Amino acid sequence: MARIGFIGLGNMGGPMALNLLKAGHDVKAFDLSPDAIAKAKGAGATVAKTAAEAASGVEVVVSMLPAGAHVRSVYLEGDKILDAADAGTLFIDSSTIDVDTARAVGEAASAKGLTMVDAPVSGGVMAAEAGTLTFMVGGADEGFEQAKPILENMGKNIFHAGGPGNGQAAKICNNMLLAISMVGTCEAFVLAEKLGLDSQKLFEISSTASGQCWSLTSYCPVPGPVPAAPSNRDYQPGFAAAMMLKDLRLSQEAAQSVRAATPLGAEATQLYSLMESAGQEGLDFSGIIKLIRGDL
Ligand code: NAD
Repeated sequence: MARIGFIGLGNMGGPMALNLLKAGHDVKAFDLSPDAIAKAKGAGATVAKTAAEAASGVEVVVSMLPAGAHVRSVYLEGDKILDAADAGTLFIDSSTIDVDTARAVGEAASAKGLTMVDAPVSGGVMAAEAGTLTFMVGGADEGFEQAKPILENMGKNIFHAGGPGNGQAAKICNNMLLAISMVGTCEAFVLAEKLGLDSQKLFEISSTASGQCWSLTSYCPVPGPVPAAPSNRDYQPGFAAAMMLKDLRLSQEAAQSVRAATPLGAEATQLYSLMESAGQEGLDFSGIIKLIRGDL
């Protein structure tokens, strides 16, 4: 069992830290929010007063923070947890952040002789609670092998995506593809409606024909064909459009930095931005069908 510092105990980090405690690890927790700290303490974690304190005297540090700026601030700037850590500490950052920050922090760690992996997750709060997250890990082989048994306490699929930053790269490429396929699926259903083609019929045909994709068969944006999909509960998430938009913006930042053309990714980003402008970003991302139909 390991001594683990955990920084960022929000909607995702809170239940992830709980699963580490359940697995028998010692968890030293830090968050800026007293409520988040109190919950972790109630579940058996030790409380740290600063991020640096959470990162010292432990073998592993896991962070789960909102965005790249927070990760930079905790790792490199204000809190400088890389300076506070003992030699040999393994760092796992599971936040969803930009590839450049992930690589910069990974490089700063290796310059200090420390091992770091970026390990963003797919799966929402329910998967964090159930310990069934998917982790996409970027970093050296040795970092991945060290991180894997820890990540297995919080998730069920652990992928090594390649070198530093590649966990983030895998996450944004996957989610950009998902957004594009969702928009395409919505367009097909709206066109079918206008052509007098029944949604259920289109589903039956396309799900066994070449239009088949996850957005259609697991997450169908019209109610009926897939009973568990958010479309059957007024598009309550699920995976909120706001979170999809965050990942799409990261994909466009990354595309610009390496001069990759992602015209459909750019279009999907604009469409989800319109959903945000309409104040509907709290809906599930399949709710984009309302925008396509002209209902927003
Ligand atoms: P959240 O806002 O609920 O939690 C973030 C926590 O970080 C908060 O408790 C906040 O107080 C804390 N924090 C911020 N700055 C800090 C600092 N300097 N030091 C210590 N703590 C600090 O967010 P979340 O939903 O838990 O998401 C965390 C990350 O996981 C994000 O990058 C998000 O994109 C990603 N993610 C979320 C989901 C989801 O469904 N919520 C799914 C996949 C990935």
